[in-house]
Amino acid sequence: MYDGVIQDLIDELGQLPGIGPKSAQRIAFHLLDADPDDVKRFAAVMVEVKSKVHFCEVCGNVTVDVQCRICTDARRDDSIICVVEESKDIIAIERTREFRGRYHVLGGAISPIAGIGPDQLRIRELLGRLQDGTVTEVIIATDPNLEGEATATYLIRMLSTLGLKVSKLASGLPVGADLEYADELTLGRAFEGRTSIAG
Ligand SMILES: [Zn+2]
Repeated sequence: MYDGVIQDLIDELGQLPGIGPKSAQRIAFHLLDADPDDVKRFAAVMVEVKSKVHFCEVCGNVTVDVQCRICTDARRDDSIICVVEESKDIIAIERTREFRGRYHVLGGAISPIAGIGPDQLRIRELLGRLQDGTVTEVIIATDPNLEGEATATYLIRMLSTLGLKVSKLASGLPVGADLEYADELTLGRAFEGRTSIAG
């Protein structure tokens, strides 16, 4: 236990994903040793990211504009939407270069334990995007874990009533993992070999 603000910093760092108490302490002392200007810049960028970055009004991706870079790109295919849990999944899929359509970010996955149901996700917004008939195919690319599968099942049931082509990423992705951690080749293959479910 350290005095006041030092302990506060360690506690705050310890709240970050993947940072245990030992790492939190190590980072705190690194910051104490660091050049004041470096620390100021670091703090400023944290504040700036919170004030400037928000969610794209169309797809829910993180962006500093009203719409994200992918939604404003006229060269992309409007007829196909890939549904992912988080913005970072978009980056993972973009790296495979297998997909040239649009995205929809749910903002998480169905998890009864965490109290997250379909209403907490951007599913209503997804349905809104499917109304005018432009989109003819939906690819479901939720994480290959329990919550991701529950979310995929829910979406498949809902989307198969709309007469759209619905497919899901092929198995072969490491089960229980996050999409973002899958390597490009595996994710690319899962994309190519996606299983058609409806339509
Ligand atoms: Zn967008």
